[in-house]
Amino acid sequence: MVRVRIAPSPTGDPHVGTAYIALMNLIFARQREGKFVLRIEDTDRTRFVETSERMIYEALRWLGLEWDEGPDVGGPFAPYRQSERTALYRERAEQLLAAGSAYRCFCTAAELEDMRRRQMAAHLPPRYDRRCRALPPAEAARRAAAGEACVVRLAVPLAGATTFRDELRGEITFEHANVDDQVLLKSDGYPTYHLANVVDDHEMQISDVIRAEEWISSTPKHVLLYQAFGWALPRFWHMPLLRNRDKSKISKRKNPVSLIYYRQAGFLPAALVNFLGLMGGGMPAPSAEAKEVERFTLADMIAQFQFERISLGGPVFDLEKLKWLNGVYLRALSPEEFFRAVRANVVPDEYLRAVCPLVQERIETLAQFFDWADFLFRDEVLPAAEVLIPKQRDLAATRKAMEALAAALESADWNKEALDSALRALADEIGWSAKEVFMLARAILTGKKASPPLLESLVVFGRARSLDRLRRCLAAFR
Ligand code: GLU
Repeated sequence: MVRVRIAPSPTGDPHVGTAYIALMNLIFARQREGKFVLRIEDTDRTRFVETSERMIYEALRWLGLEWDEGPDVGGPFAPYRQSERTALYRERAEQLLAAGSAYRCFCTAAELEDMRRRQMAAHLPPRYDRRCRALPPAEAARRAAAGEACVVRLAVPLAGATTFRDELRGEITFEHANVDDQVLLKSDGYPTYHLANVVDDHEMQISDVIRAEEWISSTPKHVLLYQAFGWALPRFWHMPLLRNRDKSKISKRKNPVSLIYYRQAGFLPAALVNFLGLMGGGMPAPSAEAKEVERFTLADMIAQFQFERISLGGPVFDLEKLKWLNGVYLRALSPEEFFRAVRANVVPDEYLRAVCPLVQERIETLAQFFDWADFLFRDEVLPAAEVLIPKQRDLAATRKAMEALAAALESADWNKEALDSALRALADEIGWSAKEVFMLARAILTGKKASPPLLESLVVFGRARSLDRLRRCLAAFR
């Protein structure tokens, strides 16, 4: 029985890479009459974002990528949310301790930091030096029972190597000398990704782990865990990473990566799924007579996609190509469908209702609505240089401020008060007046010097599209 899963962590906006891996898993499962599981890996409490889980569901459903088992739909291996399974991971950690495959480590954050600094200074890779591995287990257990804070680490064999098979790459070997004694259980009692992921893939009877290439270096740790537990390994398929045009790993500085962005910016789900299906080369090459990239539905991909055909070159997520393909899809809509897509996407009631209060105070006839609100409906809004760059500043300083603004907007809670303090804190940080920072943000968002209130406008326009506008502005002013 084929069982596959995606295991997103709810740490922010749903990522386009999550959709890509979800699509690959879904195709794989449907081709083999298997099950596709969605598991929420929410054990990193420092990066947890409350709204993220719901946004992941909404974004994947928008794309039509439905799962068979998951926290919201249940299933035979529930619960599917790791924060509800912590007792299980603790038990498994105990099991590893008892077997000597793991050990307790009492090193404090300060000690680890000091260790890291000395290793860096000596040009050594930063790695745990295993000093707690020598503690007699009974003594370590006593200290832990007495309440001393500790973590549990994997005891990586001191010599030798771990080899595993990647279905797309063949055998991959990691020398143990290069594998860190990974933390498995943190001092807050939560497992790390590595322990929880392996325990759950086993418990949930996952047959094939299909995930992004960036996890290859974690896989030897996982294989050691499977071996320590005496469990059979799943098959591993590490998919080539999506890349920016310059071939670097896809990043928000160079491409919008939030699925929320694609939805709000008017990409059709079928076009985005088609585009993601073309990444990696699993679909047959376009026939010679095809004048354009062939359009594939999810059903076509299930029928024709071949994992053996995937090339490891690193598929380029080319936004221009995606836009072009989306245009092809838009033109294929009937006039009525197109009308309905515009209605639902460009001027949905909910959005219009949020925009209205921003202009009601400002206009004398309704026809003036777009004189004020246009920037909330346009795709491209680019301020002139004299609108963007404050009087006392130059382009270089303005670019620096824009980079800092991007970081601030990425992490701020998306409401008026939080944005207000984020922008003021940013002003302090870069030594600009709050007024300058507000004017800069206004110029980027609206293209103008005068507009409806900035903070309310940002809130209405949303984080994903605001950041995209900023990204485009940075690209335009080099
Ligand atoms: N929680 C990991 C993530 O955020 C899962 C990686 C995996 O599929 O093993 O992507």
